[in-house]
Amino acid sequence: MKITVIGSGYVGLVTGACLADTGNHVLCIDLDAGKIDRLRRGEIPIHEPGLDTVVARGLAAGRLRFSTDYAEAVAHAAVAFIAVGTPSDEDGSADLSHVLSAARELGRRMERDTLVIVKSTVPVGTSDKVRAAVQEQLQARGVPHKVSVASNPEFLKEGLAVEDFMRPDRIVVGTDPDDHRAKDIFREMYAPFNRNHERIFFMDVRSAEFTKYASNCMLAVRISFMNELANLADRLKVDIEQVRRGVGADPRIGPHFLYAGAGFGGSCFPKDLRALIHTSEESGEPAELMRAAQNVNLRQRRLLGQKIVAHFGGKLDGRTIALWGLAFKANTDDVREASSIDIIDALLQAGARVRAYDPAALETAATALKGRAGVSLVRSAAEALEGADALAVVTEWLEFRSPDFDDLARRLKSRVLFDGRNLYDPFAVRRAGLVYQGIGRSGVG
Ligand code: NAD
Repeated sequence: MKITVIGSGYVGLVTGACLADTGNHVLCIDLDAGKIDRLRRGEIPIHEPGLDTVVARGLAAGRLRFSTDYAEAVAHAAVAFIAVGTPSDEDGSADLSHVLSAARELGRRMERDTLVIVKSTVPVGTSDKVRAAVQEQLQARGVPHKVSVASNPEFLKEGLAVEDFMRPDRIVVGTDPDDHRAKDIFREMYAPFNRNHERIFFMDVRSAEFTKYASNCMLAVRISFMNELANLADRLKVDIEQVRRGVGADPRIGPHFLYAGAGFGGSCFPKDLRALIHTSEESGEPAELMRAAQNVNLRQRRLLGQKIVAHFGGKLDGRTIALWGLAFKANTDDVREASSIDIIDALLQAGARVRAYDPAALETAATALKGRAGVSLVRSAAEALEGADALAVVTEWLEFRSPDFDDLARRLKSRVLFDGRNLYDPFAVRRAGLVYQGIGRSGVG
């Protein structure tokens, strides 16, 4: 099958590369000429495990190509994914300008009936707007081509994107109920990912659009609830990690995605919460639970910084804090809305200097932290510790999982470890002579 993908970021690039890997001929386009140049050379502009191999295979086989040219994109295929960004607008709603601009570009050039698939996360009703945007251009040109619009939201997780795309737990597809041609295209396109059991959930377009927000917001609420419990555990001298295991053993609850920590970030949860809150309020009903989840998270992202400042008596002048982890989670270079940024700001404001290290996110963090004096981004976990009073661990990267606590105790002048992801056994940390502070762990020992 020939497929065009508009937008070559985390979602578009993974979608295009994986679909090329299963035998399709895919053209990925993007407005960012620098990104496309790098991709043509086989350089991957983002950190995503396994993606380099899949892209290299597609390029070598000639099944994966990159362009900045909409004319080429439209000429290439009668199936076009839209996978551009949908950032938050000032009022919290999803900014659809990129999606609708892509739709208009398609309409301006379409020379045959086309299936447009909205993969970006978009509010209920957006597919109708996409159809209208394309049709407006077709009418202006006076051409008779038909546009069919489907919703196929993406559920991949950054850091596991290729694996998630290749082995999806579900493929949600929203089409008009009688659009059998669109359904056949999806069945054919996703057949390689759908062999062992049925993973495609066909539904109407609006329900598909909503499913994506419902999933992300449910996960966000779960994390915020766990964080609220952790903060209560701290006050009650309870260990949230023991509680987590006990609670997660209930099959109705399950053990996944139940970790207390320094708050959630990234390009999806905070933005999708804002968008669904906005949708809910616009529809006449306050989004009370989601607002609470949002507020708890804003508080949680400041918590680790506050713990550090409080430990040093409210002032960090002359102190250096080592920070391990800048990405919003492990295995990605994405620092969009990452807790690390809030923590760094709190530390700087209290007068500290920060030495921060991340295995993949140094480049993205350098851009995000531009203009903040007092932060040094360094090339290794050990280098971050040089001259540091304390260590704060903010991202759960594998390489931070089992440090030599004796060595940390020798290096950290004030011998204190702040564990923002509850990675460590407090007893092991304390045995090395370090003070341990986690999230909701004051009840340990
Ligand atoms: P991204 O910012 O990494 O990529 C978007 C790309 O689209 C950029 O490269 C940008 O240059 C390009 N672009 C913008 N306007 C364009 C246009 N008119 N024509 C062509 N290219 C254009 O974003 P992302 O993280 O890939 O997210 C894309 C969408 O997928 C969003 O709606 C997001 O909510 C959703 N989503 C993201 C994830 C994730 O983990 N990142 C997961 C599921 C869904």
